[in-house]
Amino acid sequence: EKALLKEYAGKPSQTKDGVKVELVCNIGKPADANKAVECDGEGIGLFRTEFLFMDRDSMPTEEEQFEAYKEVAEKMKGKPVIIRTLDIGGDKDVPYLGLEHEDNPFLGFRAIRYCLQRKDIYDIQLKALLRASAFGKIKIMVPLVTGVDELRQVKAMIKDIMAELDKEGVAYNKNIEVGVMMETPAACMMADALAKEAAFFSIGTNDLTGYTMAVDRGNAKVAYLYSTYNPAVLRAIKRIIECGKKEGIMVGMCGEAAADSKLIPLLLAFGLDEFSVSATSVLKTRKTISDCTMDECKALADKVMVCVTEEEVLEILG
Ligand code: PEP
Ligand code: MG
Repeated sequence: EKALLKEYAGKPSQTKDGVKVELVCNIGKPADANKAVECDGEGIGLFRTEFLFMDRDSMPTEEEQFEAYKEVAEKMKGKPVIIRTLDIGGDKDVPYLGLEHEDNPFLGFRAIRYCLQRKDIYDIQLKALLRASAFGKIKIMVPLVTGVDELRQVKAMIKDIMAELDKEGVAYNKNIEVGVMMETPAACMMADALAKEAAFFSIGTNDLTGYTMAVDRGNAKVAYLYSTYNPAVLRAIKRIIECGKKEGIMVGMCGEAAADSKLIPLLLAFGLDEFSVSATSVLKTRKTISDCTMDECKALADKVMVCVTEEEVLEILG
């Protein structure tokens, strides 16, 4: 197994018939970027910035954040680094953020909703990200988006910060890409409109599955409904990719499904451009992609997408 995987280090990520995709990594700490490099990741598809805010009793300063983002950008040496802005809510205990206990934290005051109400906190993160963008190919990703207005508000904040940085004579990437994490049914329904204003999409299948199926994963009684193989979820994924492709933007996936060898042929057939997986899954995922041909993937997708139950889907995917 190890030897087989070794075979795929340093190789391009492409199907047997030569369709290239990007194979990048999910990370949680700047030091994890080393693992991404060691495992031959072609960039970072999801840097979860929550770690910077957790296990401490005060806000990380702009300088601390800047250093963390810069470190990852530099380690990746010009390869794409998608940094997700703060995705935190009432399910986590971060005392200095002033979050209250909520009965339904996953449907509550979290992620971009929190950040747009606490612009004082969000401003600092966005400024640190913009400053770090001078040191590599940083892209900004907005979590838990439900509509175009949220994306517009983030872009307006970024524009204001850019004007400030210009005044201060601080370097940053004026063309920094701002993309949307596609992980709510609302974003899926609005994907056509979002694709006109987002620089890229990244599908967060972990949350998209839960929200689409209206299931709390932690609840054993309904956990059986939590499945990315459910045709409802597959249709959501397909729609998001199609809407993104129609507007010519990159569509990636950073949820667990991106590394699922059963789903990869489908994702290729739908036209997914980027697969973001844990560092340890990079070479395995590259192998799975290399074993596919687009004709086979498309034939498989045709069969799967007429299924109307999860059971039917799994009968085909095995
Ligand atoms: C997701 O929701 O699929 C995702 C990648 O983000 P997280 O697991 O951090 O919510
Ligand atoms: Mg998520």
